[in-house]
Amino acid sequence: MTKAYLGLGTNLGQKKENLEKALEVLNSHGSVQVLKVSSFYETDPVGYENQDIFLNAAVVCETSLGPYELLDFIQEIEKALKRVREIRWGPRTIDVDILLYDSLELLDEPRLIIPHPRMVEREFVLVPLSEIAPEMVHPGTGKSIALLLEELKN
Ligand code: ATP
Ligand code: CA
Ligand code: CA
Repeated sequence: MTKAYLGLGTNLGQKKENLEKALEVLNSHGSVQVLKVSSFYETDPVGYENQDIFLNAAVVCETSLGPYELLDFIQEIEKALKRVREIRWGPRTIDVDILLYDSLELLDEPRLIIPHPRMVEREFVLVPLSEIAPEMVHPGTGKSIALLLEELKN
């Protein structure tokens, strides 16, 4: 069993319901058990700014799925919530990213990179993640999530 740390975001439609639905589908998988869910945080869009604010959350789950199986599954969740890809970093009903998968470092561009390559520069990722896993060490930098957040804020 592995602990996987996921980041979720939405800024289209009923945002709170979108996150709740995604969590429900995630937990409904026989090989995934959601252990912790962060609060839901309203955040300003980053990257492409001309869009509605986001609602973001992080979750820790225990899973026997391998990283690629987990990626396939989160992409099914995105499909189930009718995500359409149009603008890079643009509006979406749901986005689920694999942030960390235990202490695995995996670089298989472009399909799967773990840790998520942009997580350390994103407050909207580190704030919810540090709520549920402050002590977790980011294998890329060797720093805890709490420390990465503190450094980003300074
Ligand atoms: P960002 O990755 O900057 O957060 P995004 O989430 O909007 O942007 P997507 O369109 O959701 O980008 O994803 C593009 C591709 O990224 C996916 O098809 C997936 O194969 C790939 N990818 C690479 N690493 C990861 C990861 N750790 N978690 C999720 N997807 C990943
Ligand atoms: Ca993302
Ligand atoms: Ca994504």
